[in-house]
Parts: sequence; C-alpha cells; structure tokens
Amino acid sequence: MKTEVSDDQGSAGSGEPFGETVLDGLGVGPGIAIGTTYLHDAGAVQAPEYRVATANLDAERERFAGAAARASKQVAKLQTKAKTLPGAAGEELGYLLDAYLQMLKGSRLIRGVERRIVEQRINAEAAVQQEIAEIVRGFSSVNDSYLAARIEDIREVGHRLVRNLLGTPYKPFSTVPAGAVILAEELTPADTALLDPKRVGGIATVLGGAESHTAIMARSLGLPAVIGVAGLMRGVEPGCPVVVDGNGGRVVINPTPETLARYRHSRSSFLRGRRALTRLRNVPAVTRDGAQVTLQANIELPSEVDAVIQAGAQGIGLLRSEFLFMNRDDVPGEEEQYQILRDLIERLDGRTVTIRTLDAGGDKLAPALGTGIGNNPALGLRAIRLSLHRPELLDAQLAAILRAGAHGPVRILLPMVSTVEELRQVREVLDRVVRRLKRRGAEFADPLPPLGVMIEVPGAALAADALAWHSDFFSIGTNDLTQYTLAIDRADETVAHLYNPLHPAVLRLIQFATEAALRARIPVSLCGEIAGDPRFTALLLGLGIRDLSMSAGNIPRVKQRIRNLDLVAATRRARVIMDQSDSGRIAQLLDDFNSAEPDSLAG
Ligand code: PEP
Ligand code: MG
Repeated sequence: MKTEVSDDQGSAGSGEPFGETVLDGLGVGPGIAIGTTYLHDAGAVQAPEYRVATANLDAERERFAGAAARASKQVAKLQTKAKTLPGAAGEELGYLLDAYLQMLKGSRLIRGVERRIVEQRINAEAAVQQEIAEIVRGFSSVNDSYLAARIEDIREVGHRLVRNLLGTPYKPFSTVPAGAVILAEELTPADTALLDPKRVGGIATVLGGAESHTAIMARSLGLPAVIGVAGLMRGVEPGCPVVVDGNGGRVVINPTPETLARYRHSRSSFLRGRRALTRLRNVPAVTRDGAQVTLQANIELPSEVDAVIQAGAQGIGLLRSEFLFMNRDDVPGEEEQYQILRDLIERLDGRTVTIRTLDAGGDKLAPALGTGIGNNPALGLRAIRLSLHRPELLDAQLAAILRAGAHGPVRILLPMVSTVEELRQVREVLDRVVRRLKRRGAEFADPLPPLGVMIEVPGAALAADALAWHSDFFSIGTNDLTQYTLAIDRADETVAHLYNPLHPAVLRLIQFATEAALRARIPVSLCGEIAGDPRFTALLLGLGIRDLSMSAGNIPRVKQRIRNLDLVAATRRARVIMDQSDSGRIAQLLDDFNSAEPDSLAG
C-alpha cells in the first residue's frame, strides 16, 4: 500500500488546499466511481436512554465490558493497519491509537461509565454519553489546542463504545448526497445492505478482505469498491473530490485535472464494454464444442431480482437468507419470511430458487441472534450449527420455505454442514415441520423441495462421498472452503495476499467433492466468488462442474468465456493442473491457457 502526497502543504484538517493522494487497496467491486467523499464514521450516535432494574445491573455492566473489549480489539486491528503506513503518518496514527487503547483500559471514562450504570441505574449507552458530556464540560473552560484534540479523542472513543453497544448501524445512509462516494473505516455487510446503488457512487474502506461479505455485497449491488486501503480516513475532508477505481484497486483523493480526465476516459470504456456484454443475455452458455453450462445468480437482497433477470440467469443458485435478519433487533417469524420469499419466487417466474438457511456468524453478524461471540466466530456457533442449536429458528425458516415453495420451484440449501449427522437432524426437523403444516391445513411444496448441502468445510469435502448419499445436491462454497483449508480469514485484509483458491489443496477438495457428486448422480454447482471470475471458468469446467452461480453482474463475462472455450482442451489442461503441487505453477498454467484462447465477443 502506498501513499503519495504531491502537495506537502496539505495536512490533516488544516484547511489548506490538498494535493492529490493516491492510495492502494483491494479492488473488489469492478467499475470506476468519480464523486465527492462522504465520511461514514463521525457524527453523534443516537442512543436510547432507559432505566435498568437493580437485578439487571450486573448484566448491564457486563454488556458494557463486552463493548469495551470489542472496542479494544477494533483499535488494535487499526494499529496493525497503521504500521503499514509509510513514515511519520503511521507513527503518528500509532500514538493516537495507543492513547485510545489506554482510554479503553480502566481510564476515568470507563470507571465513570461503570459508576453511572450502578448509581443512576441507567443503560450503558446513556452512561457513556453522560460521562463524555461531563468530561467535555470540564475541559472546555480551558482554551488549549492540545486539550481540544484530546476532547475529540474522548468523543471518538465514546462513539465507538456506543456503536458497539447498539450493535446495529448507527448512521443510516438516507442523507448521502446523490453520487457520493462512501469512505469508511469499516462497513459491515448490514451497513452495505443499506446503501442505495442509485444514490451511492462507490465505496472504499480501511478494513476488509476481498472475499468478505461486505465485498460480496458491494459486488452484488454493482458498486465500484476498494477495501483494505491503509490511511484512507487520514486527513480526508468530507465533500472533497475522489475517484474509486474498483478495477485497479486504487483510491485517488483530490485528483488533479489530468488524473480526472484519465479516469473519466477509463470509466467510459468500462461502461461501453459492459453494455456490449448485455448482447449476450439471450444466447445460451455453450462451449465451442457444444457443452451446456447452467449459469445462475447469487443474491443477497430481494432488490437484486430485476438485475438477475436482466442478466439472463437461469435461476438463483444461492439466496443468502441473512438479509431477512439484518438491521433489526428481533427475529422475523414464519409468516414474515414466507411473504418475502413468496414475493421473490413469484418474481422469478418459474426459475428455480435455491434458498440457503440462515448463515449468521463469522463476519455476518445478526445482533438479535447473539452470534459472532467468542475468540473464533468463524469456527463457532455459525450457520447450520446455530440453526440446530436454536430449533425454533430452523423451524420457522423451513416452514416459510416450504410454504413459499408452493408458488414456484425451490431447493433448500444448508450452510457449513460438516457431518452427515447434521443433515439427518435437519431432515427430522423438516419432517416435523411438514406434519405441523399438514395439521394446519397450510399449502406447501409438493413434492418436497430437494435438500442440499454447501461443501465449504474441508471435512465436508473430504467426506463428500458419504454426504452425497444423504443429500439431494451439492453447492461448493469456495469462499469458505479456501478460508478454512488455508486458515486465512477471508475478511482480513492483512492476510488477503495469502488467500488463494488456486492452492492445490483447495483444488483437490473441489475435485474430490465434484467427483463424489457425479458418482452419486446428484447435481453439483459452485457458488463461491470464483464462479463469477472468467479466469477460473476453464478450470472449473475442466474439473466437471457444469453449474455456476455468481453475482448477476458477472454472468455475461463468464458466459462470454464459456462460449470461447473448448471443453476438451479445458479438461486436458485441468488434468495437467491437478498434477501440480505449486500454486504459482498452477496459476501460470491456467493463465497461459486463458490467454491462448480467442477472447472476442461471441454470439
Ligand atoms: C462460500 O462460502 O463460498 C459461499 C458461497 O457462502 P458465503 O460466501 O455466503 O459464506
Ligand atoms: Mg460460505
């Protein structure tokens, strides 16, 4: 990551004119956004105030301690990030974050909040806000620029505490001016889900890995996005000109007229290329030698359905049902889920919808469910484990899916399955739900929808032959399969360079699971992010996969690749690749194969 400040008069918050600043990160959402900055971070947090019963005071103090511990972790993560900044900027930021960490450990602020909770019997959010107000009052009589800066620091730490206590997005994006580019330290998938792609030009964040759910959400909204940008929030002013280059993984703040002209030009050619690809919408996904491939869409939000149909998707290969649980403090009941799913299925007009049961946990937090706790949330009570632990969740979700399945073809997909036993338990719940629906006289899918599993845990891939006997279909989730096989947090930008689906271990697991499915004659598709990247298409088809599910925006590019491909040659190349043990050599063999193929628009 690199920072260049071409005008060294420009310094943070000085009000002086700034020079152009070029920052590098991970380009995760293709396209180029040109607009003005909207800083998603500062600003007072609206928190409720209420009284806490004496019996609950200990729990309230514990809730506060949890929020403070989370804040310390977040600041420590920012410190690691600061170390990657060049020279004085990194050092200065490091000192500031040190001060934040000190404040979070037994400072006057922390002690004051704890005292207020107990003495005034109020909730932790209110106690934080009152304590800050008092500290600020004490300081404000002294006219000293050093103290003024400390006041800002205390406010910042206080806001962080309140945000953690609320656990929900604290600032909706309804006030974002049209065309603004959102810059943030971090955006959660739930924050990102609130963005209106018609208003927002693009996003850039300090934290986050390329396969994080925030990145996936940005791609599905079609937003140019760059994440993992060190130093992004440093000294940037709201409302200043900015370019987010999601293709090149670059953010330019205060671009010079020459830079702007260059980016305007590349944006036009990018949009032209994208329009040209829409010509492929109605042509089939067939290789040069006649092999048919099914292309489906992954969706995160119901608002994407139009784009799915526009892109010519044959169905929805992965509906991430987490959206039903986002940005709320309660859990949706069966009826609410049914209504939303039914509407979505009807809009798909006969195309199959593969609905995945809740995959909360990891980097997808649903505060109402209390997931994502513990040292290793990605290894904790996530996905199907949570659903089986809280059977009322699974019950309501399966009932809603079965009822919605009366209005169009559906399949049920289970996330993060690692044993046949989990599948057996889900079948038991499903039987119970069916009996209940029958007793109620409710209308539901007949015959019952196929029940499939995600292959995204290495253990599941290695036991795929056993799982294939008990499930109706497989969907290979390479995002998590890569994360768990290589022990690389997919949402952590500091290890993003090590995240590599072309690692031979990952490829062998994909191959093993695919072959197990083909032997058991059950359908197998692949729905990880590599499904939407034309670089991988030849290899995946060569391994025997004929069904790919991806972000709708990627369908035309992948279809174009398929139409230029010779399957016999791709299969031969896949065999050579599978004999390799070095991921660098694998990448080279794949890239050579791709560049040898003609790349003109087919159809
Ligand atoms: C995957 O893990 O590859 C997948 C498709 O699921 P998600 O990205 O939602 O974890
Ligand atoms: Mg997954």
